[in-house]
Amino acid sequence: MVLSPFEPNVVLQSASEAPPSSEAGVPPFAKTLGIPLTKQPIQTLQINLGRRCNLACSHCHVEAGPHRTEELSPAVLEQLLSILDQFPQIQSVDLTGGAPEMNYGFRPLVEKARALGKTVIVRSNLTIFFEPGFEDLPDYLTQHQVRIVASLPCYLQDNVDKMRGQGVYNDSVQALQLLNARGYGQDPALTLDLVYNPPVPTCDCFSLTPRQQGLEQDYKQYLAEHFQITFNKLLTITNLPIGRTRFHLEHRGLLVPYTQFLATHHNPATVPALMCRSELSVDYRGHVYDCDFNQMAEVPAQDAAGMPLTLESLLAAGSLDIIETVQTRPHCYGCTAGSGSSCGGALA
Ligand code: SF4
Ligand code: SF4
Repeated sequence: MVLSPFEPNVVLQSASEAPPSSEAGVPPFAKTLGIPLTKQPIQTLQINLGRRCNLACSHCHVEAGPHRTEELSPAVLEQLLSILDQFPQIQSVDLTGGAPEMNYGFRPLVEKARALGKTVIVRSNLTIFFEPGFEDLPDYLTQHQVRIVASLPCYLQDNVDKMRGQGVYNDSVQALQLLNARGYGQDPALTLDLVYNPPVPTCDCFSLTPRQQGLEQDYKQYLAEHFQITFNKLLTITNLPIGRTRFHLEHRGLLVPYTQFLATHHNPATVPALMCRSELSVDYRGHVYDCDFNQMAEVPAQDAAGMPLTLESLLAAGSLDIIETVQTRPHCYGCTAGSGSSCGGALA
């Protein structure tokens, strides 16, 4: 019998039941932890509305782009609306994609969740504001007090355009100015956070994601001085070896060395705050995962009997809290290396 260090009253399964690592030479994440991760009561529902996006960034773990067609079905949208109605324990609804704003289910989900008093987060690439048919988004998001978490992988133009495409930096700056003009970043009800992603490694000279606090000061100073832009927080997110990042690493023979580098810098202090412990991630088909990264790696969440979960099975069970342990894989080292990483930024 093993007791959780995070919840001393919780009895855990034996670590030997955890799945093995698939990257040769990388110690299994579960073995490094010593115990499987237990789930806490679910508070966050992260919904990936589909793979369609107006951009196709080099680091995208979703492998999103303009030609992807996978998106939420009407039946899954109905199930999501039922989940929001039935489970007041959900405090936060986190909408991601692709570009989630492009999906027809985006506005019904925003309006339902806000009517129920929940915090709604949209993970926006900002440039969507300038696509035909989406010009009203800044006003719409303001009206519904949606918290915006916006990608801006660097405060310098060159780096952003290299990662995301020519012209993306200028559009992002213009979008941030539109949001500031509506009160985002200043009004306490209108939160605007930015996201930093490091470049995908091109050689084995790896480095940890820079410290969030110091980098936030650099972003704030540069954007204020050059564009009079203000925002709330900077969130630093490590590139996990999945999706396009994995493809680029494999192509250069760097997948195993990069994962080993992350494993070498495993920081146990990050583990209690891992986002997978209190969230569910749902895909466009209604399949359920412990986090968005596991979703992209196709590692489904399981109930105590080992059955993969869906929205349908959660509704039938009448509970969101039927997962005992989080499914872990080698990519999990990306969340625990150094200061740690999550959709909410650094952890320790
Ligand atoms: S990283 Fe974001 S903006 Fe870029 S392609 Fe992926 S989903 Fe779209
Ligand atoms: S990838 Fe990160 S958030 Fe997802 S299960 Fe692993 S440790 Fe948890």
